[in-house]
Amino acid sequence: MPTVRRAERRYRAGMTPTVLIMIDGLGADAFARHRAHLPHLYALADGGLRVDALGAHVPGTSLPGRVGIVTGTEPDRHGVYGNFVLDGDAFRYANPDDVAVPTLPARASAAGRDVAVLGFGMVRPEDARTFRGAWWVGEMLQRARDLEPIPADEGWLRTNEPRDVDGRLARAVADGLPTEVPDAYAGDRLHYLLAEVEGDRTMMRLAAAVASQDPPPDLTIVEILTPDSVQHAAGPDDPFSLWSLAYADGLVGTLVHELEAAGRRDAVDLFVTSDHGHGAVTTAFRPERLLPGTSVATEGAVLHALVPDRAARAAAADRLAEHGIAPLAPDHLPPVVRDRVAAFVAPDGASFERAVAPEEPADRLSAPARVRSTHGFRPGAPGDLRFLVASGPSVPSGRLATAPASAVEATVAHRLGLEPFGGGPDLIAEAGGA
Ligand SMILES: [Zn+2]
Repeated sequence: MPTVRRAERRYRAGMTPTVLIMIDGLGADAFARHRAHLPHLYALADGGLRVDALGAHVPGTSLPGRVGIVTGTEPDRHGVYGNFVLDGDAFRYANPDDVAVPTLPARASAAGRDVAVLGFGMVRPEDARTFRGAWWVGEMLQRARDLEPIPADEGWLRTNEPRDVDGRLARAVADGLPTEVPDAYAGDRLHYLLAEVEGDRTMMRLAAAVASQDPPPDLTIVEILTPDSVQHAAGPDDPFSLWSLAYADGLVGTLVHELEAAGRRDAVDLFVTSDHGHGAVTTAFRPERLLPGTSVATEGAVLHALVPDRAARAAAADRLAEHGIAPLAPDHLPPVVRDRVAAFVAPDGASFERAVAPEEPADRLSAPARVRSTHGFRPGAPGDLRFLVASGPSVPSGRLATAPASAVEATVAHRLGLEPFGGGPDLIAEAGGA
């Protein structure tokens, strides 16, 4: 197979295979304070490169965070300015086809690199030779329980079809790994949690198996979602939240162990980062009641509202100002939507949540927050900041206090012999590495 021969040539020529792991919602603050719960991540950090405070993308929510990691750009360029984007006169979940610039997997594949995507959202299947969609795609699709059902979305549905051009997934399954993950949306909250931990575990095991194959992909990219869901529900520093961080750390440890067992640990550059951090909130505003009749989308403490004209924009701003909710500069918004979408940010300690309890009085404009911790704060807020750890043969040991959000894409792009798309710095070169 010519494909494998090409990959072998690159491998022998010395391009170090790269594994990029995203841990959803493991922020700079939690990483700094919970060393005792993160032994494997700290082992990587202590022997490699650590960034204490990696800048957040704006808004600091999950889909813009993922797209920022793989494009090195902000939403004004890549188009995914929230978990929800405007489609006609309503907001819907963003999907991989909304990404308006090429992702790192797309550019690497176009340059002949061998890319494996295991459960990392917001990458298109055709941009990797090995592809497993995110286990949480059902979250993005229309469900009867939604208060305002959104159309089922082809951009997500097509990620449900795996791609296995080189038979990597088939080999992993032949070695005993699962072919399917449980449907997280087929039961109650306990079912969801167990499906989540199994979905994350499966993707990390697949990533370890694929990265241990001979030859390995040039780039393997994978994500872990559990720490985000659990921190939302339990709040910062809760024992369950600490467990969720430790669970993610253990999955990373298992992957490192498997690379060692395959004799590959010293031949792989590992990068571990997050899409955003987490911070405590106590109050949630009800955007649909503050702005009745207006299409709105909640992004943690950031609110996007459809404002068809200047009068509507001013009226919304006046109404929200009564509650300490301030306009947010539109820098993160693509120019094409700036005339129609207004962004606002809640005061410290507050976020936005729609009402769900039918018995809640219709005139209630805010309530105790259902999630005890969230993200998507005012740009630059500590709760959104992330961490980055890198370890491997190309990575010098070192520690940086800060790095810009664009640095992840730039640093990984350089490892793959590509120019960074987002213009960010190569942290390994900055730290004196190869
Ligand atoms: Zn997230």
